[in-house]
Amino acid sequence: MPVFLLTNDDGYFSEGIRALREELKSLGRVITIAPDRNLSGVGHSLTFSMPLRIRRVDEDFWTVIGGTPADCVHLGYYVLLDGKKPDMVCSGINEGPNLGEDITYSGTVSGAMEGRILGIPSIAFSAFGGESKNFSEIAKVAKKVVIEVLEKGMPEDTYLNVNIPDLPQDQIKGFLITKQGRRAYKEKVLKLLDPGKKPLYWITATEFGWHLEEGTDYWAVYHGYVSITPLQLDLTNYRAMEILKKRLKFTTEVEK
Ligand SMILES: [Mg+2]
Repeated sequence: MPVFLLTNDDGYFSEGIRALREELKSLGRVITIAPDRNLSGVGHSLTFSMPLRIRRVDEDFWTVIGGTPADCVHLGYYVLLDGKKPDMVCSGINEGPNLGEDITYSGTVSGAMEGRILGIPSIAFSAFGGESKNFSEIAKVAKKVVIEVLEKGMPEDTYLNVNIPDLPQDQIKGFLITKQGRRAYKEKVLKLLDPGKKPLYWITATEFGWHLEEGTDYWAVYHGYVSITPLQLDLTNYRAMEILKKRLKFTTEVEK
């Protein structure tokens, strides 16, 4: 029976994590450990500056007070599982997509990234579009991806970023392996005034837009497909290494 370690960045109370937990429970044991608050956009931060407390919510269900998604996976692995590798780390289902450059801010994707760092096959799940967010339907689609990966395996050094359109299952056109797309909106900063008339600033992302390039994550979900983007921990730009070797007076070789 497979063991899953499940986290998210929306908080342990969110509908998305509870729906995914229910679906995964039909496949194996699910140990859920998630932040006690909404930490969307927290990225891959790990808390070094203070100790953390784990609190029990329910059977195999825990929350980390003040903990990030990366903290949750880290503590889930080292404390709850006592360093025994689960078969898979799942993160989500996030309430909203994680596409293009946004994945660098994403706590959801970072939960899966932490799983991969610990050597565990890991998948991040996010919901795209829709007003109602039918998480029980979205979780059924997520389960199909989990089953496929459990059966066939994942390449080394890889974790998956999966975005699922919020559509009835029969309206989902299929599953596409995609590349990371590019966002085309201007980040906006709202200026507000506090009661003392001093300025406050609120970073928002209200003006959305994407480069609709075929083969990308955004193109897939926009057209009703589930987007599966393989990501890697190694951020090295190997093509640039070759270019820089020619262009700069630096080299990759050690002089002997
Ligand atoms: Mg979130």
